[in-house]
Amino acid sequence: MTDAEIRSKLGQLTDPELGISFDRLGLIKSVQTTSDVIKVEVQLPTPAYPGRERIGDLIGSALSGRKVEVSYSWQVLGRETGGKIGLRIKNVVAVGSGKGGVGKSTTAASLAYGLKHFGAKVGLLDADVYGPSIPLLTGAKGTPIVREVELPTGQKIQRLEPIDADGMKVLSIGFLIRENQAVIWRGPMLHKLLTQFLQETDWGELDYLIIDLPPGTGDVSLTLSQLLGLAGAVVVCTPQKVALLDAIKAISMFDQVKIPVLGIVENMSGDIFGRGGAKAKAEELDLPFLGEIPIDATIRVRGDDGQVGSLYADDNPAKPHLLNITQNIAMQIAKRVILDAPMPSLEIL
Ligand code: ADP
Repeated sequence: MTDAEIRSKLGQLTDPELGISFDRLGLIKSVQTTSDVIKVEVQLPTPAYPGRERIGDLIGSALSGRKVEVSYSWQVLGRETGGKIGLRIKNVVAVGSGKGGVGKSTTAASLAYGLKHFGAKVGLLDADVYGPSIPLLTGAKGTPIVREVELPTGQKIQRLEPIDADGMKVLSIGFLIRENQAVIWRGPMLHKLLTQFLQETDWGELDYLIIDLPPGTGDVSLTLSQLLGLAGAVVVCTPQKVALLDAIKAISMFDQVKIPVLGIVENMSGDIFGRGGAKAKAEELDLPFLGEIPIDATIRVRGDDGQVGSLYADDNPAKPHLLNITQNIAMQIAKRVILDAPMPSLEIL
């Protein structure tokens, strides 16, 4: 078999995680045969691809009888929908909930750190202007400065510089107002602030920007969906029935503003609130269930200490759950990018 024939054979295999062909996923980056070994380079659509060895096993079986060496690299797939407002961000992902206190901000921060843990370039934007808690959760401090940036055209523009939190760019209204200061947001002000936080901020090149939405209301989501097409929204809820009703409202709100829902995360699973309610609801609504986070003191303590990122640094009860959720979300994003893209040309098929 020539390298091209091997490539075309491998291209027809089905990815074990998403059920999409290798070709459509763009998984096979190169095939190179030497006298004694076939070297296959696999390019994953996200560094958070779970159980990548399964791809190698499939390749090995498809080429059985030959010595095969599989290597892995990754390049995050994304639609870069913010390009029209000058952003270079592959995927913008919102995290929302029907009501406050369900752990939405904790989940948003954990997702951002989780994607960073896998190696992606990540930013975190706190759009929960009514209760900005991202500075507290990340431990990031400082005042964002405005810098003059020169465009390739020579034109000089002003750009807001996000705050650095463990190598991640973070922005929040919490950095710009005094602690304990309540702010009353009128619709147009909110729209202007968000526009500035996106369009006039130096986010640089990112694989993912995670946005922590305010609970419930639709105005921020509407602005976001007008400014840029989101890769999707994650809905966080707790397992009890009353909370699930609020989650359904959030899902319906996202539907109205045309933001695809990537799925539901169940937070605070455990004795107090019960377990499994969100999973059942996700199935009923035909939405992906993205995983559960147990109710656990480690999460609250690290959150209060500005140490959410450390949940990935050591062994703790929450870590496997957070890794699993991060992977599920990253895969749902990749899946949407692929399924929304035009089919590859007949030639490739
Ligand atoms: P929201 O953004 O929905 O208002 P937060 O993320 O601010 O909620 O979380 C509210 C409180 O609950 C915080 O003190 C946080 O540390 C705590 N918390 C969130 N998730 C968990 C969990 N799984 N286990 C224990 N405490 C949690």
